[in-house]
Amino acid sequence: MEEQKAVNTSVVFALLALAFLGTLLFVGWSSFLVFLDSGDITVLPFSKVSLEETLLSWLLYATGALVVAVTLIIYLSIAARERAQHIANRMLRDALASQQMLLQLFQESPIPYLLISYEGKIQMPNKAALRLFDTVAEELEDKKIYSFFPKENHEHIDILLSRFQSNVASHEEELFIEREDGTRRYVILSIFPVQSKESKRNGLMSLVDITEREEVERAKTEFVSLASHQLRTPLSAIKWYTELLISGDFGELQPRQVKYVEKVHESNERMIELVNTLLNVSRLELGTFMVDRKPVVIIDVAENILEELKGKINAKKIIIGRQYSQLPTMNTDPKLLRMILQNLLSNAVKYTPEGGRVNLALQLQGSKLEIVVTDTGMGIPKKEHDLIFTKLYRAENARELISDGNGLGLYIVKAVMEVLEGSVSFVSEEGRGTTFTATLPF
Ligand code: ADP
Repeated sequence: MEEQKAVNTSVVFALLALAFLGTLLFVGWSSFLVFLDSGDITVLPFSKVSLEETLLSWLLYATGALVVAVTLIIYLSIAARERAQHIANRMLRDALASQQMLLQLFQESPIPYLLISYEGKIQMPNKAALRLFDTVAEELEDKKIYSFFPKENHEHIDILLSRFQSNVASHEEELFIEREDGTRRYVILSIFPVQSKESKRNGLMSLVDITEREEVERAKTEFVSLASHQLRTPLSAIKWYTELLISGDFGELQPRQVKYVEKVHESNERMIELVNTLLNVSRLELGTFMVDRKPVVIIDVAENILEELKGKINAKKIIIGRQYSQLPTMNTDPKLLRMILQNLLSNAVKYTPEGGRVNLALQLQGSKLEIVVTDTGMGIPKKEHDLIFTKLYRAENARELISDGNGLGLYIVKAVMEVLEGSVSFVSEEGRGTTFTATLPF
């Protein structure tokens, strides 16, 4: 539309210029003819025309040509300027339209978004954010982001803010916000630094409400916890009675009967182990595991576990290597320490074939205890390294060759490490072996 208008203006201008040019030429020629008529000028062969007459007629042509050229230049420059102006207008209009659209998307998005200033003040909450905080924009704007998180999350927020100030994004951090009425919502928080017009950057913060999902998860975990707890009593009863029957205290059993009762006992032991594992998982997930620190002789705990695994170690003729440094008594929770050693050592024995080697090193690294379990077993395929601490995950090679496993052991180790503020990592090569290293503050 505007382009058409610009073209029309140029056409009108060109017609006016032509009319002006025509008039000029007409006036020029008329004067020339008047001169001719008056006999002042005679049209003769060129050589017979006087110098003045020739100059006069050439002057007329030159004036005409000059007028044409100047008109053309003016026309072209005006047309170009109009076109540039038009393109600039269109670009501005497009930019405004897309800005408007982005703003609308931001405002109407079902995901709660906030803009935060460099100092961590809330600047522009969208509608979903207002719904999440259950408040109005005036109550949020210009307030420090801290005021909406409970105290125990402040340190976490501090880290996220300094990351953002250093232009580093943070993804999917689980926290909970506190509304004015005191209710809490679990959120997954991400912050992306965005450059603003001023020199200091802003941050785009997204908060995904996962309260309902967390509640369902918690209800499931509570159910597992309750069920495992209830299962322990009948399983213990089966254990005692089968042990009594095997011992012969209630009369001698026939060899076949002993064989079957032993099978019941064995299966029951596996069931007790599974139930205890489930109970540990649920307690760790619910955060109800009370850390009970006391002086622990680490080597004794390790030796005790190796003794328990003796049957499996001997059956597979696995050679056990030990490297123990001089370790002082450690102030830690023996049950949790046991879970780490038990899972790492039993895995090493389980995933190492007959005649292989398992090595346990217990050493001090500065103020930390390092537990290193190395084996010459099947290893973990590289493509599965990232998933190995995931709940219920078992690598493909382990699933194919060893049916006994539930994928909870390493998940427990990782969760225990979080409780004890330690860390666990591994290096592994498929078909060659694995080394797990757990580090615990002393
Ligand atoms: P599982 O009960 O299956 O052993 P874990 O959680 O203890 O469960 O281990 C998860 C998976 O990690 C195992 O299924 C196996 O694939 C792999 N894994 C753990 N330890 C080792 C190891 N020492 N060597 C090879 N694979 C291992």
